[in-house]
Amino acid sequence: MSEIKKILILGGGFGGVNVLKLIQNKFKNNPNIHINLVSQDNYFLYTPMLPQVTSGLIHPNDITIPIRKLCKQAEFYHASISYIDVKQKLVTITREFDGKVHALDYDYLIVTLGSSTNFFDNENIEKYAFAIKTVEDAISINSHVIHMLESAAQTSDMDFKKELMTFTVVGGGFAGVETMGEINQLVRDSTKNFYPSIGDENICMNLVASKDFILSELGTKLGRMATKYLKNTGVNVITNTKAVNAGEDFVQLDNGKTIPGMTLIWAAGIDIDPVISELECNHHKSGKLKVDKYLRVLEHQDVFALGDCAFIINPETGKEYPATAQNSIHQSITVANNLHSIITGKTKLREFSFKSKGMMTTLGRKVAIAVVFGFPITGSIAWLIWRTYYLSRLPLLEKKFQVATSWLADLLFKRDLTFIGLIKNKYLTKVDIKSDTSSVKDFFNEN
Ligand SMILES: Cc1cc2nc3c(=O)[nH]c(=O)nc-3n(C[C@H](O)[C@H](O)[C@H](O)COP(=O)(O)OP(=O)(O)OC[C@H]3O[C@@H](n4cnc5c(N)ncnc54)[C@H](O)[C@@H]3O)c2cc1C
Repeated sequence: MSEIKKILILGGGFGGVNVLKLIQNKFKNNPNIHINLVSQDNYFLYTPMLPQVTSGLIHPNDITIPIRKLCKQAEFYHASISYIDVKQKLVTITREFDGKVHALDYDYLIVTLGSSTNFFDNENIEKYAFAIKTVEDAISINSHVIHMLESAAQTSDMDFKKELMTFTVVGGGFAGVETMGEINQLVRDSTKNFYPSIGDENICMNLVASKDFILSELGTKLGRMATKYLKNTGVNVITNTKAVNAGEDFVQLDNGKTIPGMTLIWAAGIDIDPVISELECNHHKSGKLKVDKYLRVLEHQDVFALGDCAFIINPETGKEYPATAQNSIHQSITVANNLHSIITGKTKLREFSFKSKGMMTTLGRKVAIAVVFGFPITGSIAWLIWRTYYLSRLPLLEKKFQVATSWLADLLFKRDLTFIGLIKNKYLTKVDIKSDTSSVKDFFNEN
């Protein structure tokens, strides 16, 4: 192998950074391999701990890992992907810092652009709800919750106080349940410690789920146990129900009821970026890319897809692999192996198949539920397993240290309730993205 091969990875999430790590190892010091990675965020976000940012338990920087720290033998482009041309083998990217458009060519493409929040075309819900997908979402939720506490502490209008203290999370999956658990703990602890004028009786926490039990991924039994625990800690778990409308101070449900309240958090579905759903190839109706058993996009053998944006069928169950970090990580192993085999001329490719050894989720202070090797575990043991496992999977020693320190501080001290408020944004005409299209003229002309 003497000719230079260009590998282009799109996305710096679970799929992207794990493929990067593996192929950097496989092609260590190989001058004939050129790796590029493009991502609109210059960091990898460790989502399993994102709900803990909403409650201020950990800091945003604890779980964001600069991608450049992971690029040992790769070039990183901080840019958004605007178009993928699988025929010409070109990807058009728009630089984050000035909006200039460029094209990157490739021999092998790895598409792992994840998913975004799906509001199911409901404009009001999109306008009035907080999502829980990005680090900005989590910071906004934390700041908003503290704002609600400060406001409720200062009003003597009891109806208004209750509205301020009503928090509704829609979504009975991991993201929704963990976020509810975190906010419930933050609000109740803070009220007890710092806002005595609010009163616990004025707090109203609602978790709305469309299925007949929450955490369906963990099975009926554990889903029911989670419901019981949340109810015991003051959360109304509303099952078999969908949110259909929202405004500044209400959430309307499909059972005809309206919840008055200032906070709606939406964790109820995932959507696929148009850059993926409009790609010229075979798609599932969700917009996800259909792949073969080696995780190559159908009809395009030099393009691999994995993670939330790929539609991958589990050969054992005949069902789709769910959109989880665990699946993305295991798919990245198959992709890296198969790419290495193709480039080094080996004929045997590996089929993707993965059986999860366990799943777990936290529910609040020192409580989690888990299924490990088929055995259900609950309470503080599950919570310890959750913390040990997820801390061990967090990349970079310094980040593990930061998270462990934040957790320790939380055991020793009361929560930080600083409300920073709106942050002044300085606009720099020389570097900020321009809204006109003149930058497109620079396409192909500048590096
Ligand atoms: C709050 C929350 C909690 C979760 N908890 C768990 C958990 O406990 N366990 C678990 O297994 N899973 C969990 N998940 C799910 C898990 O995060 C996803 O399944 C996983 O991140 C998918 O990996 P991915 O590589 O496909 O996409 P992602 O990790 O989302 O990465 C996508 C990457 O592509 C980049 N990108 C997207 N569009 C563009 C574009 N147009 N241009 C440039 N770059 C782009 C993004 O910036 C990102 O870097 C959770 C998710 C959330 C939101």
